[in-house]
Amino acid sequence: MIIKNYTCAVCGKEYPPEQTLYTCPDDGGNLSVILDYAALSKKVSPKDISESRETSIWRYQALLPVTDPGMQFTPLHKVGYTPIYQSARLSSALGLKQLWFKDESGNPSASFKDRASAVALARAKEIGAEVIVAASTGNAGAATACLAAAMNMPAIILAPHNAPPAKIAQLLIFGARVILVDGSYDDAFDLSIAATQAFGWYNRNTGYNPFTTEGKKTAAFEIWEQLILKQLPENAPLNLFIPVGDGNIISGIYKGFYDLYQLGWIKKMPRLFGVQSQGSAAIANAFAAGTETISAVKATTLADSISVNYPRDGLRALRAVRESGGAYITVPDEAILQAIPKLGKAGIFAEPAAAAAYAGLESALTQQLINPADPILVVITGSGLKDVNACMRSIPQAPIIEPTLQALEKVIF
Ligand SMILES: *Cc1c(COP(=O)(O)O)cnc(C)c1O
Ligand SMILES: [Zn+2]
Repeated sequence: MIIKNYTCAVCGKEYPPEQTLYTCPDDGGNLSVILDYAALSKKVSPKDISESRETSIWRYQALLPVTDPGMQFTPLHKVGYTPIYQSARLSSALGLKQLWFKDESGNPSASFKDRASAVALARAKEIGAEVIVAASTGNAGAATACLAAAMNMPAIILAPHNAPPAKIAQLLIFGARVILVDGSYDDAFDLSIAATQAFGWYNRNTGYNPFTTEGKKTAAFEIWEQLILKQLPENAPLNLFIPVGDGNIISGIYKGFYDLYQLGWIKKMPRLFGVQSQGSAAIANAFAAGTETISAVKATTLADSISVNYPRDGLRALRAVRESGGAYITVPDEAILQAIPKLGKAGIFAEPAAAAAYAGLESALTQQLINPADPILVVITGSGLKDVNACMRSIPQAPIIEPTLQALEKVIF
């Protein structure tokens, strides 16, 4: 067992690893899964990992608190190990030396959330859970439904009724029991927890189940292997741009680098920049105010995946940014929409929440928060095919012409 304990982010209390716990029973704080680094560093080395032939998150099995459920030829072994891209066009547009993108759209359900769902489902299998439930704005549910289908585990997804149609379609096609809640994501979240307590289901909710961060941290391991070890000079000051809603992706990425740091495999933590929509900026507000008290907002952004009234992993997300020497940045929906066709010029199709990270990078450059000579990586968390309606608002419509050369000439030249 490589898990030492669960530790509460609020009171610091430690709980034994065998227990099925969600948040701290005393104060509701998020629990971090703490690994036994001394035991780990005797068992595994960077070389073991770099020699692995596995091309999914299970490449990092040795650093994960769950066992690989196997199922080689299923979507479970297509989660993670997503590519990193460069774009000469966008680097020069922004005046940057080294701009990288990590494109998560190639995951089985087309978003970053597959990483968390894979690990939560592996845990569900280990503890003999029979049903998994998740509240979701769409992507976490789609990821859970997809991978639960591959594992033949019943999934129940509670989503707000106004989730984008493509995400609801995914939930239904993957065969989950889909319940649309006449309310916000926050309402669906609270309902799913009440149902977990009443019916004994296993709950995968973001910022509630401690294993989601353990799945999300695999992105940090990939950035380490793909970029830090192979592409950057030693100790290069890497800056990461990450869109933030509940704050669980940024906490997870921080946890991955923290694991590597504790193992002595990196000497320096990257700087993390969290990007929120101005219309859903609870964590950024606390960062700006210099406090650890996070107050709920009334979320209004069109970027549904980061539309959150009360972030469920806010405290750790706040600390991740502060401790790494980064910052929170807020961007208006207008800038988020404009970022979508800009990313298109790098061959990347991002949903609005994912494009927000790029808008955040533009803002950080304007505010001179980063040195344009330093390496930068933007995490593209989800595919634009997830929300075509919103993406189409960012571009002019295509002309419709008669099928003649004359008409074509007229619109082309
Ligand atoms: C969930 C999600 C986010 C935000 O992640 P949090 O853990 O809620 O901060 C960003 N982008 C996409 C595409 C997502 O699905
Ligand atoms: Zn506590």
